[in-house]
Amino acid sequence: MKVKVAINGYGTIGKRVADAVSKQDDMEVIGVTKTKPDFEAKMAIRKGYKLYCAIPENLELFESAGIRVEGTVDDLINKADIVVDCSPGKVGAQNKPMYEKAGVKAIFQGGEKKDVAELSFNALANYEKAVGKNYVRVVSCNTTGLVRVLYLLDTNFGIEKVRAVMIRRVVDPKEDKKGLVNGIMPDPVKLPSHHGPDVQTVLPHIDITTVAFKVPTTLMHVHSLNVQLKEKASEDDVIDVFEKEPRILLVSKDDGFTSTAKIIEWARELRIRYDLFENVVWRDSIAVVGNELYLTQAIHQEAIVVPENIDAIRAMLEMADKEESIRKTNESLDIGKFQI
Ligand code: NAD
Repeated sequence: MKVKVAINGYGTIGKRVADAVSKQDDMEVIGVTKTKPDFEAKMAIRKGYKLYCAIPENLELFESAGIRVEGTVDDLINKADIVVDCSPGKVGAQNKPMYEKAGVKAIFQGGEKKDVAELSFNALANYEKAVGKNYVRVVSCNTTGLVRVLYLLDTNFGIEKVRAVMIRRVVDPKEDKKGLVNGIMPDPVKLPSHHGPDVQTVLPHIDITTVAFKVPTTLMHVHSLNVQLKEKASEDDVIDVFEKEPRILLVSKDDGFTSTAKIIEWARELRIRYDLFENVVWRDSIAVVGNELYLTQAIHQEAIVVPENIDAIRAMLEMADKEESIRKTNESLDIGKFQI
């Protein structure tokens, strides 16, 4: 029997998690919620998802728009084994009492504070700690991208310290109400950015300081990392570790990957919505100077957390061990298939 997954908030992350759950053989989407009867609500129905109203007072809006809903969010979560809360940042914490009342497990996203959940999660780094948990937070896109590479470097070579610069896409492509039109915005101006402390919610022993800048693009984040390693490692040693990990995708300038624009153009041919679930690391950027490793990676903000949500479901519901869950998730989403 498949486990029943409810998606509360069918936006950028929610629609991707819903589609990814639908691709698994051990779980199913029993419904998704929308606050308003907009084009995304219509799309959810068109795709065969059962639609529920996220805000009970808005039921009438759906009725007057002629959109059929199955009920309210309460009706949905009472039928679920687990809820994936994909509502906007900080709204998840407001939704939590509803999940507690219904006695249903819930996954929160990176826009929530760490204390919303018992654990901040990344599948490679701490899958086992999520086993059987009731409330787990999948860390943000930038943190997921950092944690994956740092976990691999730490387990293979040991990490003395990390200094990293995050160059952040200002908003997602669908936004039309906000954005940075022309400029570079230190975010924040005062050190550190929140990314370093957020990495430490998953890897508490890593000495990391991050600075961040927003730039006027919607296509991916870019991270420039400087990692002081404990053990000596050559560039080939690091490449070897990354090549063995399906959630890391190595690309090269010689193949024409000169910018995030080119990476996205390539991904448009491969995946629905050009979703890149992998960290995209420039092979040519990997350089070792003494015991310091440099590398540059691009992170597709809309997609990278999707496999982590699937693995979090399996861990919390004790459906599979780490290796089996990651293998199933990777296979179903074609992760690791496009190594070039
Ligand atoms: P979004 O705005 O695209 O989608 C949120 C959805 O939730 C919308 O459909 C909205 O109508 C709905 N919603 C609003 N109030 C709600 C409520 N009370 N109950 C249920 N649904 C409600 O946002 P998003 O980008 O998908 O972000 C969702 C979460 O994922 C946030 O915590 C965010 O920080 C995190 N996240 C976002 C990204 C990204 O780049 N978009 C990456 C990683 C993590």
